[in-house]
Amino acid sequence: MHGPVDPAAQSDDTLFQTLIATAVDGIMVIDERGIVQVYNRACERLFQYGADEVIGQNIKMLMPAPYRNEHDGYLDSYRNTGKARIIGIGREARGQRKDGTEFPLYLSVGQGTLDGKRIFVGIVHDLTQLKAEEAAREEQRGMMASIVETSNDAIISKTLDGIVTSWNAAAERIFGYKAEEIIGKPISILFPPDLVEEEAMILAKLSKGESIQHYETVRRRKNGAHIDISLTVSPLFDASGKIVGASKTARDITERKAAEARLQLLQSELTHVARLSEMGQFSAALAHELNQPLTAILNYTNVAKRLLTSQNPDSPAKTYETIAKAGQQAQRAGQIIRRMRDFVEKRDSKRTIEDVNKIAADAMALGLVGTKVANIKMQTIFASRAPAVLVDKVQIQQVLVNLLRNAAEAMTESPRRELTVTTTNIDDTSVELSVADTGPGIPDELAKRLFEPFVTTKVGGMGIGLAISQSIVEAHGGQLRMTPNKDGGTIFHFRLPAAPDME
Ligand code: ADP
Repeated sequence: MHGPVDPAAQSDDTLFQTLIATAVDGIMVIDERGIVQVYNRACERLFQYGADEVIGQNIKMLMPAPYRNEHDGYLDSYRNTGKARIIGIGREARGQRKDGTEFPLYLSVGQGTLDGKRIFVGIVHDLTQLKAEEAAREEQRGMMASIVETSNDAIISKTLDGIVTSWNAAAERIFGYKAEEIIGKPISILFPPDLVEEEAMILAKLSKGESIQHYETVRRRKNGAHIDISLTVSPLFDASGKIVGASKTARDITERKAAEARLQLLQSELTHVARLSEMGQFSAALAHELNQPLTAILNYTNVAKRLLTSQNPDSPAKTYETIAKAGQQAQRAGQIIRRMRDFVEKRDSKRTIEDVNKIAADAMALGLVGTKVANIKMQTIFASRAPAVLVDKVQIQQVLVNLLRNAAEAMTESPRRELTVTTTNIDDTSVELSVADTGPGIPDELAKRLFEPFVTTKVGGMGIGLAISQSIVEAHGGQLRMTPNKDGGTIFHFRLPAAPDME
C-alpha cells in the first residue's frame, strides 16, 4: 500500500474520498480505543458537530446515556474475548446531537485493519423520519381502533366468503355474540331464515365494487330475537385494488322503528279526530241533505198506495215506476251515508291505487255539504288522462275537504264566489291537485305561518286543518303550497306521485 505513488491507486483514493463525502448515510471510522479517525459530511449533518470537533475524540461523545457509559466496556470486552455485540450485525441505536437532542439511528459496524491496526467502520442511517411515520401510523391505528371500539354502530368485517374477521364492542351489544364466538364463523348466522337470500344480493353488489347504503332490514340476535337494523356495506380492497372482503356497519333502529310506529298511530288518531270534527261541523247540513231523499221516498210511497187502490188500467205500470223511483232515492240516501261512514271511520292508514279525479269528485260531494255560504259556483277542470296514484284515499279526501271548506268559508263576504278544483297530469309522473277560490286571499304575515298548527283567524277555529293536510301530503311524498290566485283569492295545490308500474 505504501509503495511508490501509483496513478491508478491515487484515483482509487480520490474515488474513495468522494464516496465517503457524498454518502447520504453517516460514515465514521474509529480505532480500537474508540477514537474517531474518519467522520464524513453526512455525520456533520446528523450530529451537528464539525469534523474538527470530533476527529481525534472518543466516539462516545456522539452517544446518549446509557450507550455513552457502556461503549468503552464493549470495546474492551471485544478486544479481550472477541465476542461481538454489534459487529457484522447492525442494530437500532440512538445518537446525540451537539445541542443535546437525541435521534434514532440504524448502526451497522464492520471491522478491518489499517496499517496493521484494527479499525471499526460504522455506517449511521438516520431513522428520524421513519420512526415519525411509524409513530403516526401507530397513532392512527390506535385512533381507528378506539373509534371502532367506541362506535355505537356494529362494525364488522368479513371475507368475500362471508366469514367474519372482525367484530367490535357495539356488534357484541347489538347481536349478543362475543367477538370470540363469531370471528371465523359465517355471517349468515345473523340472518333470519327468510332473509338468507339477501346475502347473495349484497355479495353481488360488493363484487362489482358497489356499496350498500343505509339498507333497512332485519337480523337475528344470538337469543333468536329479531332486530331492525340499518346496514351499510362497503367493499374492502387490498393494496393492489382487489376486493378481498367487506366492512359493514349496522345500526340498531329498533327504537326508531318503534317511535315511527307510535308517531304514525298518533298521526292517524289525529287525522281521525280532525275528520270527526269536520263532520260534526256539517252534520246539521247533512241531516238536511238526507232529508231530501227521505222526503221523496215518503212521497213516492204515498203515490204508490193511491195508485194501488185506483181503478185506472195504467195503474200497475205506474205503481211499478213509482216504486222504482223510491228505490233510487233510497240508494241516493245510502250513498250519502256510505261516503260519510267511510270518511269518519277509524281505520289504519292504507294505500291503494286510485283515480285522482274520482277522489276529487267524492271529496267535492262531501266537502260542500254543509257549507253555510250560498251561491258558490263550482267548477272542475279534470285531467282527461291522469296516471293512477298510490294513496290513502280517505286521507287525500280529507285534505281536499279541508281545502274546500276553507275556500268556501273564505268567500262568505266575497261578491264573486267561484271554487275551482283542478287535476293536472305532470308528465305522467305525478298529478297536481289544486283548489282555487275567489276569496280575500291570505296576507303575507299569515301566509308565513299558515301550515303551523293552531294558526287560525276564525272564531272557534282550531287551526289544525292545514297542518294536518300538510302532514298527510308530505307522507305521500308531496308538499302542500299556497299561491295567490290571479284575480284575488287563493290557490292551494299539491302533487301526488304516480303509482309505480305494477307489471
Ligand atoms: P282553521 O280552518 O281551523 O282556522 P286551518 O289550518 O284550516 O284552520 O286554516 C288556518 C287559517 O288559514 C284560517 O283560519 C284562515 O285564516 C286561513 N285560510 C285557510 N284557507 C284559506 C283560504 N282559502 N282563503 C283565505 N284564508 C284561508
